[in-house]
Amino acid sequence: MPKSIWFKTTMSVVLLGLLGVAGYWLLQRTTPAECRVCRREIHAASRAVIEVDGQQEAVCCVRCAMTLDQQEQKPVRLIEVTDYIRHTPLAPKDAFYVEGSRIVLCQSHEQHMDETKHAQERVFDRCEPSVYAFARREEAASFAAQNGGVVLQLAELMNEIPTASATAQPGAGTVRKP
Ligand SMILES: [Zn+2]
Repeated sequence: MPKSIWFKTTMSVVLLGLLGVAGYWLLQRTTPAECRVCRREIHAASRAVIEVDGQQEAVCCVRCAMTLDQQEQKPVRLIEVTDYIRHTPLAPKDAFYVEGSRIVLCQSHEQHMDETKHAQERVFDRCEPSVYAFARREEAASFAAQNGGVVLQLAELMNEIPTASATAQPGAGTVRKP
């Protein structure tokens, strides 16, 4: 085969390969991956963004952010939560939270995964009691009226996390400070 065609073919293959790698990288960055705390998909209605060690990542819900804070020896900062109704980002300190409602977004996925077909006993679930965020107090209150649970603000929610040191203070948007 003439050299120019060989060159073009090789370049095409290399380019295609590069495109594939770039596409894969983009996909990895943009598709909501699974939550590393509970290993379930990240829901648009309950997504939370946290920062650990200067790295931001998304988890499926505020509950998982709190669980992670208890698991990790490093401080976990809550950067962003999601309005359950509009699926828009909210600053954690501006949101109202409904904790312990009957709605657990992670659950349906879990039932799908269950292969034993047995009525599963309710065991400890990382996503429970569920915590969802709302932009307005009235919306949080009406959700709680329909589905159970209590309406909390960030500071009240963060008080639940047992802190190792008495000096740790839940500040604005901070799950725990070192
Ligand atoms: Zn999770």
